[in-house]
Amino acid sequence: MMDMIKAKLMMDMIKDNDFIKDPNIPGPTKEEIRCLVICKSQVTRKDTVVEVGCGTGGLTTEFAKRAREVYAIDKNQQALKITRKNLEKQGLLDNVRLIEGNAPQILGEIPEYDILMIGGSSGELPAIIREGSKKLKENGRIIVTSILLETRAEAVSTMKQMGLSPDVVDVSISKGRIMERGTMMTALNPVAIISVQKK
Ligand code: SAH
Repeated sequence: MMDMIKAKLMMDMIKDNDFIKDPNIPGPTKEEIRCLVICKSQVTRKDTVVEVGCGTGGLTTEFAKRAREVYAIDKNQQALKITRKNLEKQGLLDNVRLIEGNAPQILGEIPEYDILMIGGSSGELPAIIREGSKKLKENGRIIVTSILLETRAEAVSTMKQMGLSPDVVDVSISKGRIMERGTMMTALNPVAIISVQKK
């Protein structure tokens, strides 16, 4: 019975509308994208996750539910505030450390980890991937979510230069809004999920 409850908790995603939002901070990553990111990360209770660019905390909360511990980094203090509020709302503050700082510099101060999640990079993606992979454990995973076209290309070429072969997925989700006359479909922004395992 306990296992069934645990399994259900792992499957449950937080609804987009349940997040507290700040108009100045991007996110949360939409539910269906969070779902895929969690799948691709293969996160388990044993894993330490480092997230660069926690934004609203969309992914932070999902990782906090499933990982041993999460280090959530953002260069913007306002993003850390809203992430904290969302973690608090979901009762998930216990295993998350919120760190104000700029990646890649801040990555040197964090112990080894199993998953590096990059959701923001401000033009520094190659350095974040390279620096971040130093403390990534053997068989650890790097995941990059990207809205910008350039970020996709940068992620792939950096990983290739490192001798890695990334998995690249571009996701376009449309959601239905039930109305009297029918179901109105609305498209969300396409997002790319680039993931790779360190071998
Ligand atoms: N995935 C998040 C949204 C991320 S928004 C969610 O689901 O809510 C991207 C965030 O990355 C922004 O808050 C921005 O401040 C942060 N960011 C961008 N470049 C960064 C860098 N080099 N170091 C730390 N944080 C960074």
